[in-house]
Amino acid sequence: MPHTVILGGGIIGLSAAYYLAKLSKEAESQGGTAARTIHIVEPCPELFASASGKAGGFIARDWFNPAVAPLGALSFDLHRTLAEAHAGSARWGWSESVSYSLDRNSSLASGSVTPSNELEPEQTESEVDLDAEQARLELPYWLQTPPHAAQAISDRKTTGQLNPHQLCEFLLEECIDMGVRLHHPARASRLSRADANDPNSQTMIALNLLATTSTGREIRTGTLDIPCDSLIIAAGCWTPEVFRTLFPNAARTPAIQNLAGYSVTLRSKHWAPRPPAHTQAPRPCHAIFTSDPSGYSPELYSRAGGDLWLGGVNSAALPLPARAMDARADPAAVARMLAVGRELCGDDVEVLESGLCFRPVAPSGKPTVARVEPRELGAGIAPPAVAGGGVYLAVGHGPWGISLCLGTGLVVSEMILQRPTSTDVSGLAKW
Ligand SMILES: Cc1cc2nc3c(=O)[nH]c(=O)nc-3n(C[C@H](O)[C@H](O)[C@H](O)COP(=O)(O)OP(=O)(O)OC[C@H]3O[C@@H](n4cnc5c(N)ncnc54)[C@H](O)[C@@H]3O)c2cc1C
Repeated sequence: MPHTVILGGGIIGLSAAYYLAKLSKEAESQGGTAARTIHIVEPCPELFASASGKAGGFIARDWFNPAVAPLGALSFDLHRTLAEAHAGSARWGWSESVSYSLDRNSSLASGSVTPSNELEPEQTESEVDLDAEQARLELPYWLQTPPHAAQAISDRKTTGQLNPHQLCEFLLEECIDMGVRLHHPARASRLSRADANDPNSQTMIALNLLATTSTGREIRTGTLDIPCDSLIIAAGCWTPEVFRTLFPNAARTPAIQNLAGYSVTLRSKHWAPRPPAHTQAPRPCHAIFTSDPSGYSPELYSRAGGDLWLGGVNSAALPLPARAMDARADPAAVARMLAVGRELCGDDVEVLESGLCFRPVAPSGKPTVARVEPRELGAGIAPPAVAGGGVYLAVGHGPWGISLCLGTGLVVSEMILQRPTSTDVSGLAKW
């Protein structure tokens, strides 16, 4: 029985666990392969406290550089397929979205893009009403700015929106139902052999099982050795630390850096969670990209659950906390974003939540989705004995991990199962 261990319970690790469990089960039911055990190891006591739970949830099909483009398209399509198969609109707020560039200096006097109600040939009055209503819903009508200030930069077929925390919850629940084991809170400490005297015996990974005291201190409550043929490192910004711990003799470490980002979620009376009853097609969400004279680029997303997500204030200087849940938002940064939120959405917006989380950024600007050459792991690490075994990196997704998660999870699973990958990720092998 092959054993896969996934380090990191963020959206990338969960997507990998989901597709690996799904593909393995399908192959198993067709009598093709032996059952596989899959383990997720997550040290943070609060699940989804990282970027995966706090991100905006904007997704795109074709906003990527050439090396990432095939994965971007695959992943975007998988988001739709998954949502259609599992009621994603209701469960994790998956929706089509229209993106806009907003000019905050635009003057009220220069016209409006409000759709006209003129009849096209062969249209009935009620069809015109419906078309006009659909066109109105495509506009970010809830913005308290002149309508013409927002120029569409994508249509609803190529950008989308979801609630990342809810997608993480869905993926984890599906994984558990498929038999994936979650070790939480736990942290991998070292690799070894089942028989220390036999270099060909089963590779084991030792986990420290953790608990948090009332003062917030982490203590080890036990250890657990689990078999490990393939290892997926999906630990976001914590990847360098994970890699150094398990492969202390490796000549180099994945150079994942972190870019902190603040966010605020808001509720506005102008953006309601439910589509108006008289519209037939689902209402799209909206993504608003704008600029601020204070030197940052606010991003504002309307989400299907009825909230608005606002971000854009980032910092490369903030240190990465030991645990994602220990990140604390700076009130001054939140206030800076709220000023924009109130200008765009009205003074009466309700603040639901503010947050701080960390994007895992690769120096190349591209994620790594690849198997690590065994020689890169350093002395003392024997080549895997099992087909598809070895160490895989699924890291460095920067500002696009929500968009790219499903494609990444599928492709890395296919690599482990030694199948052709669903898309070309040859440009994502370097780290
Ligand atoms: C403010 C902000 C807004 C964003 N908005 C969007 C967006 O709209 N659309 C989009 O596509 N992307 C967005 N992103 C990017 C996206 O959130 C990230 O790319 C994505 O969440 C990365 O997922 P991950 O699973 O690689 O990392 P993470 O979410 O960081 O998960 C890594 C996990 O590894 C765990 N871990 C830590 N140490 C260890 C260890 N020793 N062993 C095992 N596990 C460990 C962590 O606790 C964590 O759970 C945004 C990011 C930020 C910061």
